[in-house]
Amino acid sequence: MPHRCPVCVVTCEDFRLHRRTDGGDFIGDFVRSLGAEGDVITRAGGVQDLVRPGAGFDESLLRDIAVSMEQHGAETIYLINHEDCGAYRFEFATREEELRRHGQDLRQAAEILKKRFPTVRVVTMLARLEGGDGQRYRIEETG
Ligand SMILES: [Zn+2]
Repeated sequence: MPHRCPVCVVTCEDFRLHRRTDGGDFIGDFVRSLGAEGDVITRAGGVQDLVRPGAGFDESLLRDIAVSMEQHGAETIYLINHEDCGAYRFEFATREEELRRHGQDLRQAAEILKKRFPTVRVVTMLARLEGGDGQRYRIEETG
């Protein structure tokens, strides 16, 4: 039985983004806001494995994306990194440095995907912390 979805999301596994006990589900809410079904691929660090590959993790992520495109018909890939990401090891001296790094990584990941899958549309986004409690995110498109 064929099953199709037009969207694939690549994001971090961080529990704060998904199906929380307090009802928060920022990635789920984002997918629902698109009005389309979507595969959700989670990796520690979101796109980090694509831009700093190690131990075959990039190929594993590319395989998951290929399955979404080839088996489910995904035509648009949303890449969503997030602030305060443990996979980035909190190594930033300033918030500006953190935002700049995510922007660079997201742009580089988008280029890698466009080269590998020329027909795909890639949208880069960042989940920004809001509210000051380190628990709530607002997902924004990046430049
Ligand atoms: Zn993370």
